[in-house]
Amino acid sequence: MKTIPEPYRIKTIEPIKLLSRGQREKKIREAKFNLFRLRSEDVYIDLLTDSGTSALSDNQWAGLLQGDEAYAGSRNYYHFVDTIKEITGFKHVIPVHQGRAAENLLFTTLLKKGDIVPSNTHFDTTRANIERQGAIALDFITEAGKSFDSDYPFKGNMDLEELRRLVKKYGKKRIPAGTMTVTNNSGGGQPASMENIKSASRILHRHGIKLLFDACRYAENAYFIKKRESGYARRSVKSIAREMFSYADGCTVSAKKDGLSNIGGFIALNDDKLATEISDLLILLEGFPTYGGLAGRDLEAIARGLREGLEEDYLDFRVNQVAYLGRLLEKVGLAVMNPTGGHAAYVEAGSYLPHIPRKQFPAQALTVALYREGGIRSCEFGGAVYTHVDRRSGKVKSAPMDLVRLAIPRRVYTRSHLDYVAEVFRKVEKKRNEVRGLRTIYEPPKLRIFTVEFEEI
Ligand SMILES: *Cc1c(COP(=O)(O)O)cnc(C)c1O
Repeated sequence: MKTIPEPYRIKTIEPIKLLSRGQREKKIREAKFNLFRLRSEDVYIDLLTDSGTSALSDNQWAGLLQGDEAYAGSRNYYHFVDTIKEITGFKHVIPVHQGRAAENLLFTTLLKKGDIVPSNTHFDTTRANIERQGAIALDFITEAGKSFDSDYPFKGNMDLEELRRLVKKYGKKRIPAGTMTVTNNSGGGQPASMENIKSASRILHRHGIKLLFDACRYAENAYFIKKRESGYARRSVKSIAREMFSYADGCTVSAKKDGLSNIGGFIALNDDKLATEISDLLILLEGFPTYGGLAGRDLEAIARGLREGLEEDYLDFRVNQVAYLGRLLEKVGLAVMNPTGGHAAYVEAGSYLPHIPRKQFPAQALTVALYREGGIRSCEFGGAVYTHVDRRSGKVKSAPMDLVRLAIPRRVYTRSHLDYVAEVFRKVEKKRNEVRGLRTIYEPPKLRIFTVEFEEI
């Protein structure tokens, strides 16, 4: 595998410390074996999420000092708006404090009870915001997208046949919009192809239905199109992104991902009436339309971060770094989701810890083992997150697979940090038969992963 060095050098550092084994044991017990409950300072390498965890550039830090904190009409707001219009081509830009606020504003305005919103896969906050309106969120992922090891290059694609059928049956009256999550976070950070986006757009538009993007990782998606889809190799990622957006009517974005910022987000769209209604609600929920829940300095950091997130040497490094981690973990003997996505490597814990039955949360047990062994924090995407009682059937639904996600914060960790992660996996490997299953001792009714508590069996 080709070495692609970090396309930056380090100017400021933040010390990290590995607690002793005894301290780690104490901390994980106090956290009730749920890594969301750990203090960050007790974590050595934090791969919990890539959201809001980016390192800012010197250019962004300089921008923070140029924050114009006027209540209305801040200079940074105009820079923010101009940048987003340039990238997306959309007519209206509405700042918000983070992605889910964008979802809330958009879906509160757009949806009524009984509406249906199809998607490749709804992210969990998106689904929750749609369902809160009494609407139905449907996931139409393709067979390849459901497969853990298929090496199909666009596993984030929408199943167009399902979309066609739904649209034909219910039409615009019941379906105000379809969405596409790019890249598809819940499906492993897998991209959707331009071809697929274009077709989904055509199907929806033929019936007068809007296509909206959940575009948090639009730059990574555009990068994958450049690398994997024929006809795009020589185009700039920026122009590919612009083409993607040209097939949609609007988007919601969390700037905590490809915006390379620690907080923030936006809605961008073309519909004048919808934009006005959202802005009115924004004043009620987030703030005046020229800051939308953010400080002027945040708007500036985002404007600069969005541009940096489209730089191709950065994206080369980023996607390669994720693939590098995937490769290392494969060598240790783990089943790694193929191909690695844009922001994380996913490993399958069920087959790796076959002595732990599914109902004892093997993936959560693996996250605990990684913390115990090397102070690594990862995130469970299996039974601990997904087990729920289905609202319609009343039956307990389990997770499709027991995965552990190792998300890589942007511009934060170096190759030797990832080598260390692989080394910890090797240590866990030696004693994997000793890893113990878990049972829950407290379960919250919703979004369980954040506060669920376990004990070891
Ligand atoms: C992170 C994320 C969101 C929600 O954004 P927040 O800033 O965390 O509120 C929505 N959709 C996708 C695909 C995401 O990754």
